[in-house]
Amino acid sequence: MINMKSTILVTGGAGFIGSNLVHYCLEHNDFTLINLDKLTYAGNPESLGSVSNHPRHVFIQGDICDRNLLKKLFQSYQPRAVMHLAAESHVDRSIEGPGEFIQTNIVGTFQLLEAARGYWTALPEERKGSFRFLHISTDEVYGTLGSEGYFTEESRYQPSSPYSASKASSDHLVRAYYHTYGMPTLITNCSNNYGPRQFPEKLIPLMILNALEGRELPVYGDGQNVRDWLYVEDHCRALLKVLAGGVPGETYNIGGNHEKSNLDVVSTLCSLLDEIKPRSGGKPYREQIVFVKDRPGHDFRYAIDASKIQQILDWKPKENFESGLRRTVTWYLDNLDWCAHVQDGSYQRQRLGVIDS
Ligand code: NAD
Repeated sequence: MINMKSTILVTGGAGFIGSNLVHYCLEHNDFTLINLDKLTYAGNPESLGSVSNHPRHVFIQGDICDRNLLKKLFQSYQPRAVMHLAAESHVDRSIEGPGEFIQTNIVGTFQLLEAARGYWTALPEERKGSFRFLHISTDEVYGTLGSEGYFTEESRYQPSSPYSASKASSDHLVRAYYHTYGMPTLITNCSNNYGPRQFPEKLIPLMILNALEGRELPVYGDGQNVRDWLYVEDHCRALLKVLAGGVPGETYNIGGNHEKSNLDVVSTLCSLLDEIKPRSGGKPYREQIVFVKDRPGHDFRYAIDASKIQQILDWKPKENFESGLRRTVTWYLDNLDWCAHVQDGSYQRQRLGVIDS
């Protein structure tokens, strides 16, 4: 069991889930957080906002592929755990250019594992046993489901996109470090997150901002692809449960138990915006929906069986999809400055990841 006053090395803590995790931990725990982030297009210091100068938060701009830097961080801060979230995370970008995904998600995870192993091997016995390396991964490693069934921790790996293949590869490496070296690693595979501070290339923030600006709301294919939606704060609580009570070598699936088709998600968002921020002229936002060419290799359905973490670690999501979505829409409406700042000019919400046939 990890001491709740420990120092934790968090990677990717200026990204969507990472920044929510940093805010959540500083508010609800006594951890000191060493936050290592390269600040790619997806990482933004503004997402850390009020906590950037918090006495228990140290931000370091750097790359997980930089082994010397990692070595120094382990030596200087002597973390009790690593929570590894840094990644290239957008499927459409991985179709457009897989190279960065291989570099960060596979090579970067390898470098981090090696630096952690060097540090962990030299720890005194009593600290060795309580060290944890928690790797945050995705349900996309399991491939696609038909209209029935759920992904469990026993499901076969069958990734379809360069993104999910790179995450699958990093999962295998993390698991291998447990089996080969005995390093206490854990893996979580979670479903689609949503909530505050998500870069506006992902479905929910993209649709909110496009709707407000009167732009088209592009739905891939016929909009019937299904995802299981998890509110980001519920995810953060789950990660802390796994860190505190998870068994090394084990995997925990985390899902919101809220399956929705993409068209349902966009329609629900439109109804919420009709209520909270009606269009001038009173026409419904739904009118802005357009159907566009499907994503190549678009998995039909993801759905998580989260019974293991529910039963063993006593976790379940607090938000349902409607309440979480309302909180999310309200956050974006209140933080339009953040949205403007994170879109630095190189990304203007254009479609990525289309292959000419
Ligand atoms: P994100 O893209 O919002 O953030 C990733 C962060 O990692 C950014 O701050 C970026 O600057 C940083 N980063 C990228 N390359 C780096 C490098 N080489 N060195 C250091 N930092 C680097 O991603 P997210 O949505 O917050 O996802 C976090 C993790 O959770 C990822 O590993 C992702 O695969 C996983 N995940 C996300 C979801 C989701 O729905 N968002 C679902 C399942 C799993």
